[in-house]
Amino acid sequence: ERVRVELGAASYDILIGPGLLAEVGGDLRERPLGHRYVVVTDETVADYLGADLERLLRDEGLRVDLLSFPAGEASKHMGTVVDLARRMVALGCDRRSVVLALGGGVVGDVAGFLASIYMRGVPCIQLPTTLLAQVDSSVGGKTGVDLPEGKNLVGTFYQPRRVYADIGALASLPPAELRNGLAEVVKYGMIRSPELFALLEARGREILDLEPETVAEVVARSCRIKAEVVAADEREGGLRRILNFGHTVGHAVEAASDYRLPHGSAVAVGMAVIARLSVEMGLMPPADEARLLALLDALGLPRRVPDGIETGHLLELLRHDKKADAGRVHFVLSEGIGATRITPEVDEAALAGAVDATRSAP
Ligand code: NAD
Ligand code: ZN
Repeated sequence: ERVRVELGAASYDILIGPGLLAEVGGDLRERPLGHRYVVVTDETVADYLGADLERLLRDEGLRVDLLSFPAGEASKHMGTVVDLARRMVALGCDRRSVVLALGGGVVGDVAGFLASIYMRGVPCIQLPTTLLAQVDSSVGGKTGVDLPEGKNLVGTFYQPRRVYADIGALASLPPAELRNGLAEVVKYGMIRSPELFALLEARGREILDLEPETVAEVVARSCRIKAEVVAADEREGGLRRILNFGHTVGHAVEAASDYRLPHGSAVAVGMAVIARLSVEMGLMPPADEARLLALLDALGLPRRVPDGIETGHLLELLRHDKKADAGRVHFVLSEGIGATRITPEVDEAALAGAVDATRSAP
């Protein structure tokens, strides 16, 4: 499958399917993007896929080096970027070097950022290896790192030249990481695609079992939705906001759990809360809320606010979010599967009611 991201001169293709990592070398030999290649990855992915990729690229006669850093969000900071840049300088990489970002969203964000600033910018190819990275972070061109003050506070918009989403790479992904990505896929169905939502309902089992054709279809549909939204609105004004469905509450849930709850789980809970609120406000048919909850159950995603998290604390975090964003926090509500409504203001009591109802939902 191939999804085109239309961004004028910065347009590029996302290729999706099993076995694609084996094709990168041949493609680059035929149409080189530079004279040497640096695979940037984390230590976990280096073990699973890095050595193979390096060998495949060398077999094509390409000059390649592999740089890795410790896996995990804790590595997503400026120090890692500076360290990688210095290692590239030590290798003698000039501006005709190309960065290949092999890994999950952390690698994609770090390596994409590195590519965007190394010698004022070198080409980047994204090779996402988590479901989250394949359906979300590798599409749209946001790169960056965290600061001690908060997540993703420094970064750039920088489009890759191409994305290879190798479905086969997901085979070694821990189930919890697979669920992380699935929460975003459910989100795409909720905001934009009744067809994708129905596909998840009908073939959830095949997806959890990583049946290649089904996963490729789900990834392609997800990328297409994100690509459409991003193409319409590259720098986040209006439409791009719908990608935050479930995320405003989700981020508060994530923070309230001290980041112990995985992002996807927090987003799943956030979507359940927003669905409840949307039903209460008469925007969403109750039957659609029931379908969402059933799908989250089937995919092994949580849909209740965890007991240790107090409603008051969540509301406080949401208020704080709003302040930090100059009062611009907009809630993306649901008008049913595939349709959203954005509202600048949500009644706090109604939101508190939805949070409480989500704790005890059957
Ligand atoms: P991640 O990159 O930390 O990957 C999760 C874990 O899976 C890591 O331990 C990694 O080593 C491991 N892993 C990756 N691929 C594997 C494979 N094939 N087999 C076995 N293990 C593998 O996390 P993530 O969930 O992929 O991404 C989260 C990050 O993405 C966050 O930092 C978030 O801010 C960012 N993000 C960015 C955007 C964007 O638009 N740029 C969008 C959403 C999220
Ligand atoms: Zn998300």
